[in-house]
Amino acid sequence: MEIPGNDKRSLNFIEAIIEEDLKNNKNESRVHTRFPPEPNGYLHIGHAKSICLNFGLAEEYNGLCNLRFDDTNPEKEEQEYVDSIKEDIRWLGFEWNGKPLFASDNFDQLYQWAVKMIKNGKAYVDDQPQEMIAEQRGVPTRPGVESPFRNRAAEENLDLFERMKNGEFPNGAKVLRAKIDMTSPNMHLRDPIIYRILHEEHHRTGKKWCIYPMYDYAHGQSDYIEGITHSLCTLEFEIHRPLYDWFLDQIAEGSYRPRQIEFARLNLSYTVMSKRKLLQLVKEELVNGWDDPRMPTISGLRRRGFTPQSIRAFADRIGIAKRDNVIDVGLLEFSVREHLNQIAPRVFAVLDPVKVIITNYPEGQSVKMELDNNPENPEAGKRKVPFTREIYIERNDFMEDPPRKFFRLGPGREVRLKGAYIIKCEDYKKDENGKITEIYCTYDPETRSGGSGANRKVKGTLHWVSVPHAIEAEVRLYDRLFMDEDPDGHKDKDYREFINPDSLKVVKNCKLEPSLKSAKPDDKFQFQRLGYFCVDKDSTAERLVFNRTVPLRDSWAKKNR
Ligand code: ATP
Ligand code: MG
Repeated sequence: MEIPGNDKRSLNFIEAIIEEDLKNNKNESRVHTRFPPEPNGYLHIGHAKSICLNFGLAEEYNGLCNLRFDDTNPEKEEQEYVDSIKEDIRWLGFEWNGKPLFASDNFDQLYQWAVKMIKNGKAYVDDQPQEMIAEQRGVPTRPGVESPFRNRAAEENLDLFERMKNGEFPNGAKVLRAKIDMTSPNMHLRDPIIYRILHEEHHRTGKKWCIYPMYDYAHGQSDYIEGITHSLCTLEFEIHRPLYDWFLDQIAEGSYRPRQIEFARLNLSYTVMSKRKLLQLVKEELVNGWDDPRMPTISGLRRRGFTPQSIRAFADRIGIAKRDNVIDVGLLEFSVREHLNQIAPRVFAVLDPVKVIITNYPEGQSVKMELDNNPENPEAGKRKVPFTREIYIERNDFMEDPPRKFFRLGPGREVRLKGAYIIKCEDYKKDENGKITEIYCTYDPETRSGGSGANRKVKGTLHWVSVPHAIEAEVRLYDRLFMDEDPDGHKDKDYREFINPDSLKVVKNCKLEPSLKSAKPDDKFQFQRLGYFCVDKDSTAERLVFNRTVPLRDSWAKKNR
């Protein structure tokens, strides 16, 4: 995998457009962007890309970025999502301009504009069912069929539209359509529906409305109302742009128009990204909620131990493109590893412990070994780790009958205990099932740092935890949620068939060095030789719980290539 650098990059195509607009003094040289989530789910890493882009450009050009909830669909939207979206944006380190805005704040204005369009003969009430309307719309290569209601008089349309608003008709009985062009090769211009009847309470406007504008009828107008200069959206909206422009031409007074610019959405390998599917994973309890550390949601990544800096660095690395592509999820993992390497204190944790008894070490003696908290950062200081006669090492760091290239512990072999001594395996004990229960070693007292044998070379260095000082923890080892590179890309198979059955392994009774006793949720560490871990929110003083963020190295790169 190639890791693009962080060096000063050239302008992306959106920055180039903005700089051109600034040069031409367009919109009084204002830069005003917005991030417009629909509050129907939690934000995912794709949204993070859009957040970094919109808020990032506002910062870069001394502009403003609005947060606007596109809440035109009352059926799927919930306050919980609104709250989580705000939390996620702030966590990423951005702040929106003024108060959060809502498309629903504009419902009155949108209604007035619809009335204006009716009066100007640009909209009509259609009594046909929506399925019929869809059928009449036809296909791009052939013109559609005009509705029999298309030429209703403005008076009648006004009366019917008002009665729709007043709740006189049931759901689906009528719609309001824009009167544009049933022969246009752009299907979005074939008299699109702009209002539908929905007797449904809205999370903000309550029972005030029983007709709701379609997203396409609200989005561009909301940009216009807010004075947005550059309206950035993903490529699938390119084909909607003529419709947005048409609406603005019906209502706008002066020459100002928001400029829509489309960019490629983020797709990640081994990941599903659509909110609908993420909701399904949550609802069907295939994961443990929106913030399950295996989810590509921002809250999931946060719980997994990602830092805002690592996500922003990732967004920077992948850049902005005009064509769809798929980013290797390894690049996201690389970004967090890179940041945690700088900031995470090193500690010893043994996940699968086996006991080592150092037979020539005095019983009851405990000496504090001094170890670097972070060799990458001299300011991180040192910590003291107690060493005693009995220690835990990792079970797989010992082999009864090791091959020559195994540089860890085996009968008659020597290893260094990191920050302490060289030990030699003299003997070991097994239970009736052949499982190693104890390993007996001797140590060389001269091999401690500062001793005469301190520089003696052995091939392997192990991490360890003193038995009487060890604290216990549960460790959750996460792996990718999907085993397939493109779980969404199979015609004949559902993405859920590719769920990795080993994506979560819970390891109990792990042994940690005593300095971890005071670790608090969200604290991040490097468990030496194992990976980066953070304290989970399920953790309590009595029961420590850690999540593995990422292993130290990209083990998948080796496994799959
Ligand atoms: P999904 O397709 O995942 O359900 P959405 O596009 O319906 O997402 P919105 O809440 O409408 O979600 O998205 C808010 C903003 O985030 C939009 O401007 C959208 O273009 C952008 N966005 C959504 N998904 C991605 C992505 N994968 N990459 C980049 N931007 C995205
Ligand atoms: Mg959307």
